[in-house]
Amino acid sequence: MSEAKRKPVALVTGGAQGIGRAITGALLQQGWQVMIADIDGEAGTECTHLFDTIGKLAFQVVDVAQEDQVRKLMQVTEEELGPISLLINNAGLANPFTGALEDLDLSTWQRYLDVNLTGTFLCSKHAATQLRSTRGSIINLASTRALQSEPDTEAYSASKGGVLALTHSLAMSLGPDVRVNSISPGWIEVGDWQKTSSRYQPFHSHEDHEQHPVGRIGKPDDVAGLVLWLASDLAGFVTGQNFVVDGGMSRKMVYQAD
Ligand code: NAD
Repeated sequence: MSEAKRKPVALVTGGAQGIGRAITGALLQQGWQVMIADIDGEAGTECTHLFDTIGKLAFQVVDVAQEDQVRKLMQVTEEELGPISLLINNAGLANPFTGALEDLDLSTWQRYLDVNLTGTFLCSKHAATQLRSTRGSIINLASTRALQSEPDTEAYSASKGGVLALTHSLAMSLGPDVRVNSISPGWIEVGDWQKTSSRYQPFHSHEDHEQHPVGRIGKPDDVAGLVLWLASDLAGFVTGQNFVVDGGMSRKMVYQAD
């Protein structure tokens, strides 16, 4: 077995852009091998070139909502890198706003559930055998919107609420072999973590930052840091839990000013 094959293997869905790109980079820095599974071929190819000097990574174009593609992804990952020790279910339709309830098409509702919730189920199901063999772990990306809402976010919020419930259910089914936890980010700015052709320079007002108890909007690396801890043996007694990473926003008591 080669040296590269002995390094643990992480699979990061939606790992080509945004929070997933930061998680991919952080895992590579820590000595993991990483399989990126992303629906965007351009982003995945770019990400592979960006990180290939840091560590061993591979990329597959996959729609996580398609079971045949997910099944094949798990086979290819094991063949190319080795059995999976860490599954990050990060791929998602990340824009929470789908318009007024009265105008919300069934197809839009269904697609949010298919990608954000069913995709998490399918990847967990088809990685389970490999994860049990490595005594690995799963980290699901939920959202603070699973716990609280603005108007016109029904599909997104419902999908992420499902991810929270799926997380503790998976933790019971896969324990004691596999730990399963979720991370619920708040406002994480990902504009400068997109593929080059759709990257934008974010602008935020003083108020945007200041409303957060920590004094700033979040960065993808804020999430990646927690991923590293949850994936490590330091978190060996932690499963079935949800971790909020939102700069304290959801702990604020909000009253209208006079
Ligand atoms: P992003 O749009 O920047 O990146 C998402 C990635 O997932 C993209 O590379 C995209 O191509 C990929 N993807 C989308 N659909 C896919 C599919 N069907 N199959 C495979 N890949 C697919 O989003 P982000 O902001 O980095 O969000 C990542 C995760 O974090 C999402 O699950 C999102 O809901 C969650 N989240 C983000 C925030 C935030 O503020 N950015 C807040 C809370 C939760």
